[in-house]
Amino acid sequence: MSGHLHGDEPTNEECADFLERIVRLIDNELEEGDCTVVRAHIDTCSPCLERYDLQRTVKAIVARSCSETAPADLRAKVRLQIQQIRVEITEG
Ligand SMILES: [Zn+2]
Repeated sequence: MSGHLHGDEPTNEECADFLERIVRLIDNELEEGDCTVVRAHIDTCSPCLERYDLQRTVKAIVARSCSETAPADLRAKVRLQIQQIRVEITEG
């Protein structure tokens, strides 16, 4: 009854937890059961869908540049970006 939830947005904590798994889903490091859970969340949570799309796009860029030069810098940048998104979510 009390508390201060804004609108129908999912809790930040929940999304922060999912972001971690979204990253692993894209990396194909997630187990089959978890994939289903994460995909179900992405389906119902547009902020997470946007992040999923962003991560996938970044991944594709990294993969493409992989064939040309060793993208150590780029990988570091991507990692930083993921961390920034995570901070954004957890700090609201
Ligand atoms: Zn979410």
